[in-house]
Amino acid sequence: MRSVDDLIAEGVSGRRVLLRADLNVPLDKETGAITDDGRIRASLPTLQALREAGARVLVAAHLGRPKGQPDPRFSLAPVAARLGELLGTTVPLAADVAGEDAREKAAALGDGDVLLLENVRFEAAETSKDDAERAELADRLAALADVYVDDAFGAVHRAHASVFDVAERIPHHAGRLVARELDVLTRLTTEPDRPYVVVLGGSKVSDKLAVIEALLPKVDRLLVGGGMCFTFLAAQGHGVGKSLLEADQVETCRRLLAEAGDRIVLPVDVVCAPEFSADAPTTTVPVDAIPEDQMGLDVGPRTVELFGATLGDARTVFWNGPMGVFELAPFQDGTRGVARAVSAVDGLSVVGGGDSAAAVRVLGLDESAYGHISTGGGASLEYLEGRDLPGLAVLAD
Ligand code: ADP
Ligand code: MG
Repeated sequence: MRSVDDLIAEGVSGRRVLLRADLNVPLDKETGAITDDGRIRASLPTLQALREAGARVLVAAHLGRPKGQPDPRFSLAPVAARLGELLGTTVPLAADVAGEDAREKAAALGDGDVLLLENVRFEAAETSKDDAERAELADRLAALADVYVDDAFGAVHRAHASVFDVAERIPHHAGRLVARELDVLTRLTTEPDRPYVVVLGGSKVSDKLAVIEALLPKVDRLLVGGGMCFTFLAAQGHGVGKSLLEADQVETCRRLLAEAGDRIVLPVDVVCAPEFSADAPTTTVPVDAIPEDQMGLDVGPRTVELFGATLGDARTVFWNGPMGVFELAPFQDGTRGVARAVSAVDGLSVVGGGDSAAAVRVLGLDESAYGHISTGGGASLEYLEGRDLPGLAVLAD
């Protein structure tokens, strides 16, 4: 895999570089303001190195899930502004992804300049399952530049036009962020120091069951919290009230629990509220007493203690997915407590996942206390599952 530093050594001054970056930052639902700019900051080292080497950089990125057509709610305009502030320069935003405006603005770039293309998901072809549709977009993207650099680690598990197809068309290199992420993930998959503990939370069990299956034979303990724990608790026969529940996954969770024995550790208490709101009254109950008319929105203090104790002697930890709805103040303590325990681990601690990484920062925890904070949740999970990631495979040859 050739790196962006190989490209710089080769000489990139005056050349147009298409840089796929992961700038998919969380936005405030009401104001549209960026609530955590971690991913933008993580993209700076590669971007700066290219600028300093005199490259003319066109940045391609996605934001949220627009429905394959332009939608002002998902415009990269706030990202262009923040990127410009961080770089100390103006970052113009093309009005389209790889259309007339992008071509005009790309042609006007000087050495060291940066142009941000509009949200690649404004084109339905970006995520299309139809090879020909993606190819047409990839052709237009490739025509904008001489070389391609992929630094969007958070998207390498997607066979999307701007991640996969475009790399087949022009010389391609891995950015510094992608290289660093790979380095850490390799350490997790090749003879990790033991005990090796994985902590999983977040909202969707169905998304993470495959990871659990793949990781179970490799880990010493798997701690499950967040919204996904309720499907496991239901599998143990507990009533879960109005909590998140994926009824069609209960059977699979039951089988996993039977296979794993005491290696899967579930919460023992949960913080409940009648509704999904920061103002609702909360009650903390043992997992066998979740009221029918309430939903579990965080793990309780006894669970934080239990998970903390399990993490106490760990030498390798991978944590993905918040333990509760940390976006709302009454449901932050579980995530904060477990995040602290992860950071205190004597060994390699890795945080993976957009929301988990955002939680570390939003809850005021010390980022430097972790061995590594990955920007890509889905991508790191798929890597740990041992799957081939299309965006990496295409960079390898
Ligand atoms: P990551 O981005 O780190 O991979 P996910 O996207 O899987 O994490 O999950 C993050 C989301 O899970 C957060 O928005 C959080 O509010 C939600 N969540 C956590 N616990 C619960 C819960 N008990 N009920 C509903 N949602 C939850
Ligand atoms: Mg997420």
